[in-house]
Amino acid sequence: MAGLYLHIPFCKQACYYCDFHFSVNTSIKADLVRAIIKELEMQAHYLAGEPLDTLYFGGGTPSLLTDDELNAILNAIGKRYSVSADPEITLEANPDDLTREKLAALAGAGINRLSIGVQSFDNHVLKFLNRAHTAIEAEQCIEAAHQAGISNLSIDIMFGLPNQHEFILQKDLAKALTLQPAHISVYSLTVEEKTVFGKWAQQGKLKITDEPEAAQQFEVVMDTLESNGFIQYEISNYAKPGFESRHNSSYWQRKKYLGIGPSAHSYNGNTRQFNVRNNYHYVQALNTGKIPYEIEQLTLANKINEYIFTSLRTNIGCSLAVLKRDYDYDLTALPGNPLLKMANQNLITLKADTVLLTRAGKLVADQLAMEFFASEK
Ligand code: SF4
Repeated sequence: MAGLYLHIPFCKQACYYCDFHFSVNTSIKADLVRAIIKELEMQAHYLAGEPLDTLYFGGGTPSLLTDDELNAILNAIGKRYSVSADPEITLEANPDDLTREKLAALAGAGINRLSIGVQSFDNHVLKFLNRAHTAIEAEQCIEAAHQAGISNLSIDIMFGLPNQHEFILQKDLAKALTLQPAHISVYSLTVEEKTVFGKWAQQGKLKITDEPEAAQQFEVVMDTLESNGFIQYEISNYAKPGFESRHNSSYWQRKKYLGIGPSAHSYNGNTRQFNVRNNYHYVQALNTGKIPYEIEQLTLANKINEYIFTSLRTNIGCSLAVLKRDYDYDLTALPGNPLLKMANQNLITLKADTVLLTRAGKLVADQLAMEFFASEK
């Protein structure tokens, strides 16, 4: 089973923190949808006939697609790809797009999971982030999605924002819980250089949340969601049992996926392909029958490090046996024995042959993973 990711690179307005690929100029949206359909046709061989178990419309803002555009893309997938009997079909959406009519159309098209970019239920926070929606729109669209029969709902919440006091986060989480999503993704703010926040930070105009405060907020998130029946199945992702994102989980399980659209990437176990991060160049290239991508051959060290980095973030953990079997890499033989060192510092636990992060370890997951990395020979 494999996954298909489709990148829809348009947004109504630029959120001040966002580093994803998108444009607020939608004048070539119809051309771009045609190019996506063309790329779907040209890449049909990529997964070597493996059925698609998950489809994921990400962005950008896929909820900006018209019903006809979405159906045209889904039809193209249906024509060229084999799809499993019970696929998970997710669409990322912003609350201001999710009217009752839109939700009915999405459900009618076969979308069975929505990932809604709420970020906060506080209007001051939303304005500060330059989000295009209000708190009440977020609340109402979630209720409307339930009524439209799309009960597999995920919402995104942010923490670690400048001037976001802990009580605002607590209120956001409490409101989220009353709306009964099956899945909540909770991300801390990362200030990226090329964003408005990045510029403000360089000019000293942005008060960055310090690490102890962000760590304290992360503890609040984990406590609140776990005590309300959510499983933290990945550091930033919490689900009610049975509602873990199949699509994202497949990335962490090293399954193959095909990425379509500008900036999308694809993975087949040995290579990673990166499409051009420019809407105009993407459309131009597809118009001449070419897919504009760069390809990276994954080295053994790349594969080992990707496995360590992603698996450690999940509640399945990093298996010493998988590392040995698939890559002949022995974590117990590393110089300085970081496994023992981290276990003694209560950052990891070892269950059978699996390394799992403790609460303290989750606060520094990326740094810990790097201590296990293989180097290029
Ligand atoms: S809507 Fe999403 S993709 Fe678009 S700018 Fe905001 S965060 Fe980025």
